[in-house]
Amino acid sequence: MTASLTTDGGQVKEQASDHVLPHRVVIVGGGFAGLFAGRHLRHVPVAVTLIDRSANHVFQPMLYQCATGVVLPATIAPSFRAIFGHQHNMRVRLAEVVDIDLEHRVVRARTPIGGVDEVPYDSLIVGTGAGTSYFGHDELARHAPGMKSIDDAMAIGRRIFGAFEIAEMIKEPDQRRPWLTFAVVGAGPTGVELSGQIREEARHTLRGEFRAIDPLACRVVLLDGGTAPLATFGDRLSERATRVLEAKGVELQMGALVTHVDADGLDYKDHAGQSHHIDAKTVIWAAGVAASPLGRLLAERSGGEVDRAGRVKVLPDCTLPGHPEVFVVGDLMCLDKLPGVAEVAMQSGLHAANTVKRRLNGKPAKKFHYVDMGSMAYVGRGHAIVDFKGMKLSGSLGWLMWAGVHMTFLTGYQNRFATLFSWVAALGGSRRGRVFGVADLAGVADGATAGEPQAAVGDADAARTPG
Ligand SMILES: Cc1cc2nc3c(=O)[nH]c(=O)nc-3n(C[C@H](O)[C@H](O)[C@H](O)COP(=O)(O)OP(=O)(O)OC[C@H]3O[C@@H](n4cnc5c(N)ncnc54)[C@H](O)[C@@H]3O)c2cc1C
Repeated sequence: MTASLTTDGGQVKEQASDHVLPHRVVIVGGGFAGLFAGRHLRHVPVAVTLIDRSANHVFQPMLYQCATGVVLPATIAPSFRAIFGHQHNMRVRLAEVVDIDLEHRVVRARTPIGGVDEVPYDSLIVGTGAGTSYFGHDELARHAPGMKSIDDAMAIGRRIFGAFEIAEMIKEPDQRRPWLTFAVVGAGPTGVELSGQIREEARHTLRGEFRAIDPLACRVVLLDGGTAPLATFGDRLSERATRVLEAKGVELQMGALVTHVDADGLDYKDHAGQSHHIDAKTVIWAAGVAASPLGRLLAERSGGEVDRAGRVKVLPDCTLPGHPEVFVVGDLMCLDKLPGVAEVAMQSGLHAANTVKRRLNGKPAKKFHYVDMGSMAYVGRGHAIVDFKGMKLSGSLGWLMWAGVHMTFLTGYQNRFATLFSWVAALGGSRRGRVFGVADLAGVADGATAGEPQAAVGDADAARTPG
């Protein structure tokens, strides 16, 4: 016997049926939301299926460390099978969900061997996250890749390390300069972290390794349409971040609206409307997010709505209007103006799993209550800024808290040790994650990128809290 959920005049009811199978929970997406939901169902008598198009759970807040060679990809991307291997009620499927049939309660997923599998559910938790948004200018993706996956981070890493490599080969200073110029668009946490890391990489790792160039002569420009980096952290922390970045040699171009990017650099307009050009062979986009296309599909199928970024407007208990058996969580969920950060994803994933559990125990669903754990960002060696329940920390105290939170939420002891080791090694200048060759540099030299355009609309990078 199993219990399934139905609506009757807005009331959620449990219906007994003659299934011999236990209640089937399907989780689509194993990001923070899906991971926390799956783990929470560990001791619940349900049959859980996690479907993800990737074999790995990616710890996105550390992607920039992967791009700049500090940590190796495997450290921040444990495989789902390793994570859930011992969870006997969990089945992992590598497939891309292409359709959700709300009426028949079936998820359709394209498998790597061809064909589309149908996976039936009694409860469905959808947490497929978000991609990069170019605010309606998807053509920018070709020359300004965004960073959302391990592949993106590695491609960006190859471009950064490759640019120094190419600069070393060019004798003419005017031709060499654009290869030593890096433009990062978006001064939220990702842009700040990445631009600071490029300067650190040049100073502490690459310096002394080249013969024709001085890597420290590289120019890193951080552009944003707002007035200051990390503006969402408040004036004091934002000013502190500005000082640390400038001390590192990052050039800040605030009030800058990027209008064009090509293989030779970017154009932007300043706050007075004046146009400027930066000759830069490496441009990285850290400016906006657009929800996974499954958001629009769910809204269309249910008669629901999405916000400007394509996130699904859900009821206070994180369910799809008219479908109490379907939860939309994490970055894909639009509820109470909650930001797209890891903490919201974890808590909403837990909430969905807990609601399934409560209902099976005959208890009603509760509203999702988010507990704000604050925001934090790494600004440079031994410097992080933290805004935690009104407590503002920066410098080494902030860094210790930042490091502690990252250690807590990284998956697996081995990965925690490896990360700790990599951080200590990076203090001495070691960055082991730089693996590339002639074939990769040919792509870099052509100005081609691995980035594919995503859906177009999005909000700026929000203040973020890993954990
Ligand atoms: C570079 C970067 C830095 C960040 N830094 C921070 C930070 O410092 N602090 C912070 O709090 N937050 C940070 N964030 C945001 C945070 O990582 C996200 O809020 C969080 O990952 C959202 O979790 P999620 O589970 O909703 O989605 P995601 O983590 O994006 O996971 C979505 C999952 O769904 C899978 N998927 C997508 N589409 C399909 C499909 N059709 N079929 C099957 N599977 C699919 C994906 O493979 C992925 O595994 C950062 C994000 C990025 C990109």
